[in-house]
Amino acid sequence: MSTHMRVPEDTGVDLHIHSTYSDGLLTPSELVAMAQRCNVTTLAITDHDSVEGIREGMEAAQQAGIDMIAGVELSVRYESFSDVHLLGYGFDYNDAAFGSFLERIREERLRRGERILDKINGVLIFQGREPLAMPNSSGSSGAFGRPHLARMLMEEGYVTSMEEAFTRYLVPCNVPKFRWEMNDALEEINRLGGVAVLAHPTEYSHNQQELRRLVTSLADLGIEGVEVYNSQADPGEVSLLMRLAEQRSLLVTAGSDFHTPGEGVELGRGSGGIRFPVGLVPPLKQRINDKKQGDSLR
Ligand code: AMP
Ligand code: FE
Ligand code: FE
Ligand code: ZN
Repeated sequence: MSTHMRVPEDTGVDLHIHSTYSDGLLTPSELVAMAQRCNVTTLAITDHDSVEGIREGMEAAQQAGIDMIAGVELSVRYESFSDVHLLGYGFDYNDAAFGSFLERIREERLRRGERILDKINGVLIFQGREPLAMPNSSGSSGAFGRPHLARMLMEEGYVTSMEEAFTRYLVPCNVPKFRWEMNDALEEINRLGGVAVLAHPTEYSHNQQELRRLVTSLADLGIEGVEVYNSQADPGEVSLLMRLAEQRSLLVTAGSDFHTPGEGVELGRGSGGIRFPVGLVPPLKQRINDKKQGDSLR
């Protein structure tokens, strides 16, 4: 093969990314443009507590010839786990009741953000530093979260990384946010004709027995997939999650959880820079379609 011939980079998918409608730094259109540059052929924007970016994303994706699946990420309380993330795919994102419930959650997030900032300011003043003010635009459609405050601490030069912001300020000053009950979240995603998937399982535990128990009990409750490939699980954990998914006939999904350029996570790639396999998309789409068919028969 000639060395001048450009070898086309293989394609990939990414089913877990964030936009400016939650705590990401790029707009849905910018994410689509980035996906195009990264040869990502199927994309799902999964904002925390928001479906507001999906329409813009869908329009941009259509223009760019990228396949987009509607997505959302919900925070759920489950057994001893205080913040399990549940991804919803292919649901009716125009549903008015869901939209206004999420809007209320986002309003609560904003009030919680103010309370967290109050606590942080207490610490900053104690350190002899200038306190920070809530951003003016925070009342807009984005789901306000701790990453917004972390970036403010970075911009002020009080910390040098997101990690440091969380360790020194956002974890110690945290205030609980709204979390769904697992059954309610699953019921709602099902009501909207969507497919519920457990996000980044190794964020909750690295213990094999605990992961097995979590995936198994959620399968019993009706979860339909596991995010086997992500930017956190190491190769051994990926194989474990894959085995668990196979044992319970769960769908396998993949997502980078990309939020911001230059923070170590690349769109369309998991830990170690691996590409996510495009082959996992057809079974997911099949399931989404099956559920739609089921709906129209009801
Ligand atoms: P919140 O939903 O406001 O509690 O913020 C949680 C979000 O913060 C997660 O979804 C991640 O996007 C981000 N996050 C959590 N921990 C860290 C960390 N150590 N470094 C950077 N981002 C983090
Ligand atoms: Fe996030
Ligand atoms: Fe998450
Ligand atoms: Zn996420």
